[in-house]
Amino acid sequence: MPIKTSIKRASGWLYLNSPMGRQQLRGAGLILMLHRVLADDHSAELPHRNELCVGPQAFEKLLRWLQRHFHCLPLMELLQGNGQAQDSDKPRVALTFDDGWRDNALNAFPLLQKYQVPASIFLSTDYIGSRQRFWWESLGETLWGSHGEPARRQIIETLRLAGRPLPAAYFMNERPHARSYALGRYLQSLKSLSPQALHMLTDACPADSLPQALDWQQVRWLEASGLIRFGPHGASHALLPGLDERRLEEELSRSHYALQEGCRNPLPVYCYPNGDHDLRVRQRLTAHHYPFALSTRAGICQGSDDPLALPRIGVSQRNACRPSLLAWRISRGGRA
Ligand SMILES: [Zn+2]
Repeated sequence: MPIKTSIKRASGWLYLNSPMGRQQLRGAGLILMLHRVLADDHSAELPHRNELCVGPQAFEKLLRWLQRHFHCLPLMELLQGNGQAQDSDKPRVALTFDDGWRDNALNAFPLLQKYQVPASIFLSTDYIGSRQRFWWESLGETLWGSHGEPARRQIIETLRLAGRPLPAAYFMNERPHARSYALGRYLQSLKSLSPQALHMLTDACPADSLPQALDWQQVRWLEASGLIRFGPHGASHALLPGLDERRLEEELSRSHYALQEGCRNPLPVYCYPNGDHDLRVRQRLTAHHYPFALSTRAGICQGSDDPLALPRIGVSQRNACRPSLLAWRISRGGRA
């Protein structure tokens, strides 16, 4: 293990076990951000998936660790400052999942149920119950070769013609880990493309056998368990600050009403796609009567936070496997 990782793990452990760290966490709340739980851990370890995916073994390890060190409670109880009395010695944590991936029902829920850990899932509502695909997943996996070599070559050519050629590091590295790392960085760079261009590129990728997202029946079934609640994460997953007034209003209303229709008790919490927001977006959310919204800024929730820009701590395969690394991430957030 690299020395830097060992130092991070040691300081994470110290933070969690020191009076200062515990004190800081007890007075605050921690919101964890996850996206997907894949069917196996090996697939989640590749760098281009690491930040958005965890495997079932890592997720189970995380849940056990959280139950040892934290009081796991529903997001609304954490936001409304409840839940302290039940287990006052432990800091409070709430789990959130972004996007609405189908694997949340298939792979995450059985483990949440086993450990009775509540969670909130934030849906990009256009995708729910449809075959519409998330561009980073379709492009990433086609480029990784998950849909075969001819499809991989074709999308490389399409991207070249679109003026976004793949970097040399993607072609030159023999080691899968290094190639996956180069792919992850390249996918990040595509975020600046227009939604239309990303749609077109996604359409050029082969179809998956199953829809990527949950359907509304699954949503209702998960909600009926009493362990899961749902909130909006945009409708099309467009980045909100870049939209004109009309499109911003459409995104907020469409996602809001889809949740009202599809769920029994949707959360009054908005979750910004990609964490992106600005003053105009926050003002529109206030007009839609959302008292809370989640960003992707790393941090722990303190009383002084803007309730429409709440920070979270991201869970990756790497830190779910080694929770002392997650504790290190939390300690950095606590210092912010
Ligand atoms: Zn998202």
